[in-house]
Amino acid sequence: MKKTPETVRRIRILGSPVDMVSADEAMTTFAELMETEGCSQIVTPNSEILWSASKDPVLKAIISGAELVLPDGIGLVYASRLLGVPLRERVTGIDFLSRILAWLSENGKSVYFLGSAPGVAEKAAENMRARFPALKTAGTRNGYFGPEEEAGIVAEINASGADFLCVAMGSPRQERFISAHKAEFTARLAIGVGGSLDIWAGTLKRAPLFFRKHGIEWLYRLAQQPRRIGRMAVLPLFMLRVLFYAPGGKKREGT
Ligand code: UDP
Repeated sequence: MKKTPETVRRIRILGSPVDMVSADEAMTTFAELMETEGCSQIVTPNSEILWSASKDPVLKAIISGAELVLPDGIGLVYASRLLGVPLRERVTGIDFLSRILAWLSENGKSVYFLGSAPGVAEKAAENMRARFPALKTAGTRNGYFGPEEEAGIVAEINASGADFLCVAMGSPRQERFISAHKAEFTARLAIGVGGSLDIWAGTLKRAPLFFRKHGIEWLYRLAQQPRRIGRMAVLPLFMLRVLFYAPGGKKREGT
């Protein structure tokens, strides 16, 4: 397995690693990984995902094995402060991905969009090509398939010659899929991007700037998708558990 560049420092939140990087530093690491043999994985956890990982050793191992772990959630920034190892900033998956697409188009590299409902990846690719005219899309496919189709899909992605793979199938499905096939992918990097293709395709609206600036994007998402209430309810539990690990708390977590 490849190593995360030495320059990147990892902290631990509820036992899972999170990289202490600014968005600019994450881009530098991204560019290094694009030059490195084999396929690397980028994960973008939020509090919900780290909460699940604290109960699911397989998910925790997948996050630990990722070459870049971006703090995609305001809850992680607060948690890191409580733990006394403050993360520089929140690096949202979708903003980071926009920068990646700009980099890919400037460097003549191609992207494969896998995930979301039929038609969404195609529409997202079309909109992204309008934004980055030099962007090469090697292929697209929806994210609804059974385990028996996986080998064929991996072969299809490899045959497309994509340099970068974007998987939007929700967490932890996308992380498991990438991790399971990492050794087979010929792309240099794969990232799980949740609902980003829906946003780019226009099927889901991104929170207005006010919500993003104030760290309450989750509130906007909840209003759009009330079914998320159950999942979001873990946030207070997540914070309580982090407090338990914080300096002065009952347990001290390694940094
Ligand atoms: N999705 C998919 N395959 C599945 C389930 C979900 O491609 O089997 C897609 C779904 O259409 C959506 C994206 O995954 O575009 C994110 O789903 P969700 O909002 O449930 O996930 P989150 O990123 O919030 O965990």
